[in-house]
Amino acid sequence: MESTMTRQARFPLPDGLRTLRNYVDGRFVETGRIFDDVSPLDGCVIGQVHEADAALVDHAVKAARKALGGPWGAMSVQERAQRLHAVADVIERRFDAFVAAEVADTGRPMAQARTLDVYRGMANLRTFADLGKVAHGDYFETRLANGQDLMNYTVRKPLGVIASICPWNLPLLSMTWKAGPALACGNTMVVKPSEETPASATLLAEAFDEAGIPPGVFNLVHGFGPGSAGEAMTRHPGVDAVTFTGESRTGSTIMKAVADGVKDISFELGGKNAAVVFADCDFDAAVQGIVTSSFTNAGQVCLCSERVYVERPIFDRFVAALKARTEALRIGWPDDDGVFMGSLISHQHRDKVLSYYRLAEQEGATVVTGGGVPRFGDTRDEGAFVQPTIWTGLPDTARCLREEVFGPVCHVSPFDTEAEVIARVNGTAYGLAGCVWTTNLARAHRVSRQFHAGIVWVNTWFSRDLRTPFGGSRLSGIGREGGRYSLDFYSETTNICVAL
Ligand code: NAD
Repeated sequence: MESTMTRQARFPLPDGLRTLRNYVDGRFVETGRIFDDVSPLDGCVIGQVHEADAALVDHAVKAARKALGGPWGAMSVQERAQRLHAVADVIERRFDAFVAAEVADTGRPMAQARTLDVYRGMANLRTFADLGKVAHGDYFETRLANGQDLMNYTVRKPLGVIASICPWNLPLLSMTWKAGPALACGNTMVVKPSEETPASATLLAEAFDEAGIPPGVFNLVHGFGPGSAGEAMTRHPGVDAVTFTGESRTGSTIMKAVADGVKDISFELGGKNAAVVFADCDFDAAVQGIVTSSFTNAGQVCLCSERVYVERPIFDRFVAALKARTEALRIGWPDDDGVFMGSLISHQHRDKVLSYYRLAEQEGATVVTGGGVPRFGDTRDEGAFVQPTIWTGLPDTARCLREEVFGPVCHVSPFDTEAEVIARVNGTAYGLAGCVWTTNLARAHRVSRQFHAGIVWVNTWFSRDLRTPFGGSRLSGIGREGGRYSLDFYSETTNICVAL
């Protein structure tokens, strides 16, 4: 095989994006400290990223502080909303470039990059721009024992300079999910994409620039976590709040870093989500639902179901149907007809996922399907592909049933009673999401509310109304975002008490 430097990537970055620069105080900045952006589809180098150091992060934070007290802070909420819509308009105009950037960095099918990232990126900006306009305070009337009347009302103000640290799995979605509400509320930001996915973030900075957002409002820095831009952001005394999406372990490290400054935090972390399938479900819909919830984006969605519990009377039939439908999934290039799964994010992540494939066998799993690497006979064999994998037969104590794999895997086990399955569903340290498949509405409600999870879907998965709360409990996160929950996090509230 030729070297990755000389081969031409099948899915390169869009023109003009081979050099990925920081965006600080309204300028695109090169630092000369370069790391490679590598295509996970065929291992080719597709771009060169300019890593930010602590000095550039400091510059970005100071620029954000200045913008907070400058034109952005002085703008009305209506004006800010208009500007955010203008950014979304640029994304719409450059839609194909955004899709190409996401596909090149993540290796996902184009259709999924369009809907999961780029449409959702625009929707995040537009929704929060509009919600910001209807955000309101509280009002309380009080009469004290001495007859004194009081009027209390609250006002919302920006929280300040927000550091936003993003993951690689849904790059534009996660970045705009934070930027939309934070900016609508009048904050300014320093944003870091994952080192694995610098491209769409760089395009987003271009969109902010093109839309005429004042310098310093949205600053983008590239780099890694420890000893790099990420750590510098969390330790910077000029940052007022950190919003982070990523692994639970990283969340714990960041929490320690922000402790000295007692900064506000919002954390969206890992999951080990369960789906429960009752015998009275719509069988076909449930099988398709589990395929979708376990294998979308090659299982690299924090909300994916890695544990599936199926009521015993339909267990064997369900596993057989799941196996058949999984084996029919098309794995391949992002633009292949009907392709459902691309590569994983990186070769390093593939090593991690494959180590769980091996561990599952050591822990006693029966491999129903998958468990290895597909062979294509072309340059995809240099890519980070794995097979979608179904296991049965693991004990609940197995590491593969307690730790987040973050790959296209699910373990299916039978259950007999509601009480039993609830205990097993809640038997991990996580608490992010869950699914219930049943046609019995009372049962759906009874079971769902007992999940230790921030979100439970009944007879669906991943359906989202951006006004609803989103987040996790336990190791899966701190706080809720979405709709007014985001507006509350990104606002400082002052109560004003007036003696009448
Ligand atoms: P990660 O924790 O490895 O990295 C996330 C970001 O944190 C990256 O930008 C990284 O550079 C940065 N980072 C790493 N160490 C840091 C440090 N010490 N200080 C500051 N920044 C640091 O996570 P990932 O692998 O990019 O993403 C996958 C994880 O994200 C999975 O666990 C997944 O479940 C989780 N996730 C959760 C949600 C949610 O909403 N709950 C959404 C998407 C992803």
